[in-house]
Amino acid sequence: MENLRLELVSIITQCAGVKTFRFRLDKEVPRKPGQYLIFTLDVNGKQVPKAFSISSSPTEKGYIEFTKKLTDSDFSKTLDALKPGGLFSLRLPMGKFTFEGEFPKAAFLSGGIGITPIRSIFKYATDIKLSSSLVLLYSARVPEQCVFKNDFAVMQKENKNIKMVYTLTDCKEEVPGFRFGAINEAMVKEDVPDYKERKFFMCGPPGMVEAMRAMLLTGLGISKESIITEDFTGY
Ligand SMILES: Cc1cc2nc3c(=O)[nH]c(=O)nc-3n(C[C@H](O)[C@H](O)[C@H](O)COP(=O)(O)OP(=O)(O)OC[C@H]3O[C@@H](n4cnc5c(N)ncnc54)[C@H](O)[C@@H]3O)c2cc1C
Repeated sequence: MENLRLELVSIITQCAGVKTFRFRLDKEVPRKPGQYLIFTLDVNGKQVPKAFSISSSPTEKGYIEFTKKLTDSDFSKTLDALKPGGLFSLRLPMGKFTFEGEFPKAAFLSGGIGITPIRSIFKYATDIKLSSSLVLLYSARVPEQCVFKNDFAVMQKENKNIKMVYTLTDCKEEVPGFRFGAINEAMVKEDVPDYKERKFFMCGPPGMVEAMRAMLLTGLGISKESIITEDFTGY
C-alpha cells in the first residue's frame, strides 16, 4: 500500500455524466487488475476520501486512472470542477476483486459504473494475452450510457477469448446489437451456455449485485464459492 501525491494530467469524458481522471505515474506501483484506490479531495476545506476502482490496467504504463459517475454531491461537484495540473493524494492498491488468469473460464456481470474494474481486468487479459475465456454481460439504461464500449470493441479485435453482451434496461424498443431488459437467468443461459464451468465476478450498485447474486445462487445453482463481488457502497 502506498500513499502517493500524483499530478492530475487529463480528464476524459467517457459519456454524459461519466469522467475519467488520469494521474501521472513516474514510478509504477505494483498492483493487480481490478483493485481500487482511495482518492482524497479537499471539499469546502474538508479532506474527503472516497474509494474508486482503478479503471486503467497495470499494463498501461506511466499513468493511473479512475472513472467516476458524477452526482450532485459536493464531492462530485468539486471533482467535476477540477482542471489538469494539480497534485492529489491517492492511496493504493486495495481490494480482492482481481483477476490475473487464475481460472480458464470466467463470467462478469455488471451494470452502470460497475464496469470500471472490469475494464482494467479485460485490458490486462488482452495485453498479456491470457488464454482465459472471459464473457461480460453488461447492462445500461440506454446505448449512450455503455461506459468504455469503444475500449472493449478494440480489445475484442485483439483478443478472441473475450466476448461482450450489452443489454438495455430503459429503451422502449429493441436496439440492433443490444439485448433487451435486465440481466436474467435466460440471458445467462443463452449467452453463457457453459455457465456452470465459470467463476462469476459481479460489480455494480449494491442493489444490482444483490439481485444477481440471488439469481446465480437460487436460479442457476452456482455455488457461493464461485461468486466474487465488489459493490460500490460509499466509502
Ligand atoms: C471498492 C469501491 C470501488 C468504487 N469504485 C467506483 C468507481 O469506479 N466509480 C464510481 O463512480 N464510484 C465508485 N465507488 C463509489 C464511490 O466511492 C462513491 O460512493 C460514489 O462515487 C458516490 O459518491 P458521491 O460523492 O458522488 O455521492 P454520495 O456523497 O455518496 O451521495 C450519494 C447520492 O446522494 C446525492 N447527494 C449527495 N450530496 C448531495 C447534495 N449536496 N445535493 C444533492 N444530492 C446529493 C447524490 O446525488 C448521490 O447520488 C466505489 C466504491 C467502493 C467501495
